[in-house]
Amino acid sequence: KKEAGVDFIRAIVNEDMKTGKYQGRVHTRFPPEPNGYLHLGHAKSICLNFGLAQEYGGKCNLRLDDTNPLKETPEYVESIKTDVRWLGFDWEDRMFHASDYFERLFELAVQLIKAGKAYVDDLTPEQIREYRGTLKEPGKNSPYRDRSAEENLDLFMRMRNGEFEDGSRVLRAKIDMASPNMVMRDPTIYRIRRAHHHRTGDAWCIYPMYDFTHCISDSIEGITHSICTLEFENNRELYDWMLNTLELYHPQQIEFARLNLTHTVLSKRKLIQLVEEGHVNGWDDPRMPTLSGVRRRGITPEALREFCARIGVAKADSMVDYGLLEFCAREHLNRIAPRLMAVLDPVKVVIENYPEGQVEEFEMPLNPEDESQGTRMVPFSRELYIERDDFREQAPNKKFFRLAIGKEVRLRYAYYITCNDVVKDEHGNITELRCTYDPATRGGWSDDGRKVKGTLHWVSAAHAVPAQVRLYDKLFTVENPNAAEEGKTFVDYLNPDSLSVVTGYLEPALKNMEHGSRVQFERIGYFCVDPDSTADAPVFNRTVTLKDSWAK
Ligand code: ATP
Ligand code: MG
Ligand code: MG
Repeated sequence: KKEAGVDFIRAIVNEDMKTGKYQGRVHTRFPPEPNGYLHLGHAKSICLNFGLAQEYGGKCNLRLDDTNPLKETPEYVESIKTDVRWLGFDWEDRMFHASDYFERLFELAVQLIKAGKAYVDDLTPEQIREYRGTLKEPGKNSPYRDRSAEENLDLFMRMRNGEFEDGSRVLRAKIDMASPNMVMRDPTIYRIRRAHHHRTGDAWCIYPMYDFTHCISDSIEGITHSICTLEFENNRELYDWMLNTLELYHPQQIEFARLNLTHTVLSKRKLIQLVEEGHVNGWDDPRMPTLSGVRRRGITPEALREFCARIGVAKADSMVDYGLLEFCAREHLNRIAPRLMAVLDPVKVVIENYPEGQVEEFEMPLNPEDESQGTRMVPFSRELYIERDDFREQAPNKKFFRLAIGKEVRLRYAYYITCNDVVKDEHGNITELRCTYDPATRGGWSDDGRKVKGTLHWVSAAHAVPAQVRLYDKLFTVENPNAAEEGKTFVDYLNPDSLSVVTGYLEPALKNMEHGSRVQFERIGYFCVDPDSTADAPVFNRTVTLKDSWAK
């Protein structure tokens, strides 16, 4: 049955609240493995899990699913905490680690063995795979499957005590080698692996597998709704088998469709590859779809939460347009970002009738739509920069309202100017626009009825602050780099022009802004101050252009 106005997960929760299935409790968890930085897919899961807890007056745990010591590091743990907080969520005193449960998990494995529901298998990994069968054919039992509980217990203790080589034996749940669900064909629940764990050190040389650990962790923490992505649909049967067999408190697993985004990849394995092979400048490269990347890019947590709300949750996989995230960013930045002037591709304007050496200052609002943002002073002088693209020697058509020879335009909040002539270098490139201004239009306004439609941004050349401006474009040239042609991988679709660096000329108020500050460069886009920025050498990242260029 479909409930109007809510997604299928909230419909399930509403029903459980009605029937009192969990005594009116909602307790979710966000369970990342600390084997990489969080990406935008994780944001969807964070917003869903923490969001449900907020909406129903429940709780959400942050659980580090750290059972694979080879790939996990404290750096990743720290980045996860930073990113969840940045997105605006708080686990309070409920941060847990699957590794906290190692002793309890071991006890439960022993309980399974004693109940005849688990056995130590000596087959090699290749043999185990072979014996597992295929979707069309049932598997066959391992010759070690019928060991006695005593023998299994003895071997499992000795596995723990380090008597056997890595990979020489595993502990498997004894379920059904003929099950149509491959996951149920005696899944491995413990393996031997001498690896230093970032929290438990060398205390263990056996580690529990995901399917064993996850359901028990959920159970220990009293989770009500254990939400995961669709790939785990087949694992639900095992989740239920394990908790039923061990007679433990039983949360319910619910699967939803993972987030897929155009022009990027959302898989830690692939993101690690981009970092390690140097295709990007680290996890927080502003082109990366990681939370640290989009943060450095200047996307706000509010925009990201709005994005997650708009994409919603569903049961069917789909591809979301990256442009939607940019749309959400634009909407929020439009409300909060002050609007200042910067020229990214300058051409010099000389105002011939403006006195040499004179400087005047204009007080300009930081955001004409929000007076509370205040004002700043902007110097004006005889030589200015405007955008090269705002000038044509001859206006190409009647709709060209920018500057051309013989045409008048408004310089934002300053004066009207008219271009009379151009100066060119020996290659024919324009080096200067010779203009005159009308002193009667101070403030950028005249009430004599003359029509001046174009308004240009500008900076005073002598006062301009040069800055490095990093312009970003799509990281991949195709919508779905995961669907690589034969003989290619996603890396072959990287966009060679995803970053271009230019020198911009900023009005003085843009100097010395704090790292992370977000601004609009008028008529260009939204930018933020990169952490590489210093007082002498400001660095800005383009978060998003003013208008959508993705639709094309
Ligand atoms: P990856 O495939 O990138 O390695 P993962 O699922 O292995 O991701 P985990 O650290 O195990 O990464 O994920 C933590 C939680 O985030 C899980 O509950 C998982 O379902 C969820 N999650 C991961 N990727 C996505 C995604 N693309 N969309 C929605 N949720 C996701
Ligand atoms: Mg995982
Ligand atoms: Mg993974």
